[in-house]
Amino acid sequence: MLNLPRVFKFEKHKVIDFKEYLSKHLIEIHLVRNQSSKMNCSTCNNLMEPGHGSYKVKVQHMPIFTNHCYIIFRRQKGFCKFCKKVRTEKLNFLSKQTPHKTLDYAWWVGRMCEISPVAKVARILKEDSSTTWRLDYKRMKAMLSSYRIPKISRICVDEVYARRKLKKGETRDDLFITVICDLDTRRVIWTSSSRRKEALDEFFLIIGKNACEKILVVAADMHDAYGASVKEHCSNATLVWDRFHVMQSFDNAVNETRKTLHGETENGSNTQMLSRGKYRFLFLKKASRRDQTEQRHISDLMTENEDFFKLELVKERMHDFFNARSVTDAREIFDEIGGWIWQSGFTILHKWHNYMTSRWETLKNYFIYRVSSGLAEGMNHVIKTLKRSGYGYRNMHYFKLKILQMCGYLNSKYITDPQML
Ligand SMILES: [Zn+2]
Repeated sequence: MLNLPRVFKFEKHKVIDFKEYLSKHLIEIHLVRNQSSKMNCSTCNNLMEPGHGSYKVKVQHMPIFTNHCYIIFRRQKGFCKFCKKVRTEKLNFLSKQTPHKTLDYAWWVGRMCEISPVAKVARILKEDSSTTWRLDYKRMKAMLSSYRIPKISRICVDEVYARRKLKKGETRDDLFITVICDLDTRRVIWTSSSRRKEALDEFFLIIGKNACEKILVVAADMHDAYGASVKEHCSNATLVWDRFHVMQSFDNAVNETRKTLHGETENGSNTQMLSRGKYRFLFLKKASRRDQTEQRHISDLMTENEDFFKLELVKERMHDFFNARSVTDAREIFDEIGGWIWQSGFTILHKWHNYMTSRWETLKNYFIYRVSSGLAEGMNHVIKTLKRSGYGYRNMHYFKLKILQMCGYLNSKYITDPQML
């Protein structure tokens, strides 16, 4: 026969009864304390004097098949000389986060929250979703206390837009989280609040001066704050702008340009002629049969289209730019793009190109270190999923930990011992 007491092992206690209420999907395990066991204080862990009473507790444990499971026993109280108070006994099988759950159960709830949104986990466990959320949050906080940032030499820093509403005294920078990844393992190793210089400073201060000096490459977006922090803390590091972010800023400039081109056509006298049907109709009409106004509309449209066409060319060439084999090739292409932009009279793109030229010393580093942009893109994707699944990211600290859990090492794949919680 199955030896139940051995399966259900609870420190300082033995199983005396096992009650099944299968119609209610409920199992109760009754325990009794071994009289001879010593008693430790739940607050300071020192030995206590026994004999200060006890009270009955019902603690939720891992489900057995489809049945909820509770362990029932009397929790002892004793006098702690160090706390100078009557305290409850410390029991290692109870969750430190809540005395109403066992450690195994709390760990398992958190384990489920690693792969599924809190609301869904709560539904499956028939738990309150705020209780589940709290368990998950506390578990991650406990994990963080034993978390060590791994050794690194190439990192990637990115800002992530975390929430919409500003709280009192905050600026737009506070709506972001700074995410730091290891470029070699492609995992998130740290997250800090805001996208200010201080956010990255915090990371460098945590890892210490020696570790900072071992950092050789920092890939970041074109945010000046990060650049300043890298310059201050990492004397051996080269700052590289990654392709994803450079292209993002380029695409923004292209879109703005496109808008002005559309704007110019819409504000012109030909607004009516631009509606799709008429536009097509005009093109289909034989040139000789168009009247004078129609002919003018057509040539106006052609000029406008020429601008769109030039814009298309600039865009294409920009993709070649990132495929350039050397810094010299890259510069050649970049100057060529600049020429095209200037000739076409695209003011917004011209401004963008000028800025990039002034920062060539950083921009060129991409062609030396070639950091991949997949990481930044992937990160952005994961975070969008996180937000969509309603992980309660209104609490920024929780959200930061969740990113570390989903994309980093703060999870049961890397921290395997429930006892450390
Ligand atoms: Zn104590």
